[in-house]
Amino acid sequence: MNKPCLFCEIAAGRMEADVLHQDDHVVAFRDIHPQTPTHVLVIPRKHITSMLDIEPVDAELLGHMHVTARDLAKRLGIAESGYRSVFNCGRDGGQTVWHIHLHLLGGRSMGWPPWPGN
Ligand code: 5GP
Ligand code: ZN
Repeated sequence: MNKPCLFCEIAAGRMEADVLHQDDHVVAFRDIHPQTPTHVLVIPRKHITSMLDIEPVDAELLGHMHVTARDLAKRLGIAESGYRSVFNCGRDGGQTVWHIHLHLLGGRSMGWPPWPGN
């Protein structure tokens, strides 16, 4: 049997997570290894393996993920100071979980561009 997808399990409530928001289409929860004082993952309930697999029909869902991230940024007090939203894709993009997720990062100043090692 294939190993169940970690983020599908969190979305279904079968695996524990610090959930901050959920609705019919997305779930948002705190990253287990936060890289910034505020680090939240916004995932679609629909299993999509990578950003390479998104389809035109997913456009509204992806927009909803960004609106959710913006609302959470306001709620968590990082909207004024600023935040970063990131989708990592594939090996060089640093993707390690194969169910798309938006990283909402904030609470400290971040460098740009992402030099090697950052
Ligand atoms: P990626 O590297 O694929 O862009 O991001 C995956 C993220 O998922 C990482 O930041 C990692 O810390 C987080 N993560 C991995 N496993 C778990 C888990 O079981 N629970 C939570 N809350 N986050 C996880
Ligand atoms: Zn999944």
